[in-house]
Amino acid sequence: MSPKEIEYRTPSTNWQTLAFWEGCGRGELVLQRCQDCGIVQHRPRGLCASCLSSSLDHFVASGRAKVHTFTITHQNGMPAFRDACPYVLAYVDLEEGPRLMTHIVGCAPESVFIDMAVRADFVITDKDLGIPRFVPA
Ligand SMILES: [Zn+2]
Repeated sequence: MSPKEIEYRTPSTNWQTLAFWEGCGRGELVLQRCQDCGIVQHRPRGLCASCLSSSLDHFVASGRAKVHTFTITHQNGMPAFRDACPYVLAYVDLEEGPRLMTHIVGCAPESVFIDMAVRADFVITDKDLGIPRFVPA
């Protein structure tokens, strides 16, 4: 495991993303579902990316996902990441459909594999917002 956690900053929010970041602050993965075509989307937007409807609902997702692909980062000079190397940057496929870029934590980087079952875990920042990352399920 990494000697130190990545130092996550407070997310920058706007009217399209606030519900997502606030959900993470409560330990919930909040996604959008289009009321017109039913698609579930992430990243959060003001319109449905499929049919351009503005009728979007927010709902709490299961937090369950599988690793789609990943890479292990061994060098990153940015101060927030430098001491956390090696760490895992991954795309995970959420049970509800969307693919999310995230970190896999809570396990040795070399133990991560494609199709690995993972679940959402959150780092709470100030302003009661949060950052999602995933741990082995
Ligand atoms: Zn739609």
